[in-house]
Amino acid sequence: DTRSLSNIGVVGLAVMGSNLARNLASREGNVVAVYNRTYARTQQLLDEHGDLGFLGAESIDDFVASLARPRTAIVMVQAGAGTDAVIEQLAERFEPGDIIVDGGNANFHDTIRRERELRELGINFVGTGISGGEEGALRGPSIMPGGSAEAWETLGPIFRSIAAVAQGEPCVTHVGTDGAGHFVKMVHNGIEYADMQLIAEAYDLLRRVGGLSVPDLVEVFRSWNEGDLESYLIEIAAEVLSQIDAESGQPLVDMIVDEAGSKGTGVWTVQNAVGLGIPVSGIGEAVFARAVSSKLEQRAAVRRTARRRPERPPMSEEFVNDVRAALYVSKVVAYAQGFDLIVAGAAEFGWDIDLGALAKIWRAGCIIRARFLNRIVDAYATDRGLTSLLADPYFANAVGAGEQAWRRIVATAATAGVPAPGFSSALAYFDSLVSERLPTSLIQGQRDFFGAHTYRRVDKDGVFHTLWSEDR
Ligand code: NAP
Repeated sequence: DTRSLSNIGVVGLAVMGSNLARNLASREGNVVAVYNRTYARTQQLLDEHGDLGFLGAESIDDFVASLARPRTAIVMVQAGAGTDAVIEQLAERFEPGDIIVDGGNANFHDTIRRERELRELGINFVGTGISGGEEGALRGPSIMPGGSAEAWETLGPIFRSIAAVAQGEPCVTHVGTDGAGHFVKMVHNGIEYADMQLIAEAYDLLRRVGGLSVPDLVEVFRSWNEGDLESYLIEIAAEVLSQIDAESGQPLVDMIVDEAGSKGTGVWTVQNAVGLGIPVSGIGEAVFARAVSSKLEQRAAVRRTARRRPERPPMSEEFVNDVRAALYVSKVVAYAQGFDLIVAGAAEFGWDIDLGALAKIWRAGCIIRARFLNRIVDAYATDRGLTSLLADPYFANAVGAGEQAWRRIVATAATAGVPAPGFSSALAYFDSLVSERLPTSLIQGQRDFFGAHTYRRVDKDGVFHTLWSEDR
């Protein structure tokens, strides 16, 4: 066969797939085969970016025939049934040693199943989290592959060539086997939910309690983006707030219906965390806050009937700085909880996940990229087995420095009647961890009372049951 073959192929040429294919094709040494179920999308990519030397296939057979061995194909199609359909088509044509990468937002339980099924055929299946949206796919995403070490040998150099770069290092690491990559991508998205909720609460408090105008807020977020809160999400918050609606002349944010959507990864994060017994309350509150926002009927009904008397809270001159401190500290809590979930997932599903390496690859390319991640990298470099980010000396100091402001802001929000579920649940979580005694001793007593569930004692080993008073 004298035709030139591709070292890598992409199936699924909607926005993510076509951008990823362009990113791959623009790197030295890659010849990229492309295929899409509906040929028009392939044709469009060839028409617009034919200079990148794509091998465009009209059929799945042609696509497979254009791949050099070991055949390597990245699937970027709709998660769920679409992904299963494409994997099946490839698996029927691939041989042992070939590699199928799923770069979509798959549920990691599906990834574990698919990896097991394909392994029986000798095919390497690599569920891979890819973050950064369409821009990231084109210019350099953060890449979180699972799968076998054997597949990583082939994929490592390819992924390193297209990933975002943070401080000279490509934002990709072999996260762990089978579903590890999609698991950490799920948690990444959960942390993203929490981060966005906290930023939204800061915005709300500054506006409704602090009385800042939208243009003032743009300035505040821009200045925050110069300090330890520097992050993509703060940056785009300023961008969104600075947008003026052409039709009304109002800030666009005021014209947008305040009903937040979601595509499900936040819900998956919380479901799995509940199953694993990990309190990801920051992510949970963020998922619930979006849910509350979309209950338009209930919001209207309760707003009409409620007898509420919020008060004007005492305002500190340091209000803006207090909000900034509360945001930072709550964010530390959200990340601490997210990393706890990764530790629990790794233990449950048998992955060896390097948390420091993960923090490194989230420093660029992905949606939660932030200066702050350098501190997490440092924390795990100092202590690989760190039991909580909150127990790291740097973060313990940072939380200590922000604590008073955090308490003032949560109190202010409650007094003023402005919801701050992210800030307040983060504080409650912190206060729970640092309390010497928790009221769960009472709960244990009740459980033993009604169900003989037994309890342990503070002063001796063993398990105890009390014969609670008969004459009650
Ligand atoms: P999408 O809208 O999720 O999916 C459209 C693509 O899937 C099209 O190429 C479509 O082919 C193909 N497809 C659907 N069902 C199929 C089937 N049964 N057989 C073959 N092909 C099928 O595309 P996207 O937004 O580019 O996202 C791709 C993946 O990346 C998804 O899993 C998504 O969750 C994930 N992701 C997206 C983003 C983002 O910012 N959009 C970020 C990270 C990850 P046709 O053209 O023939 O219909």
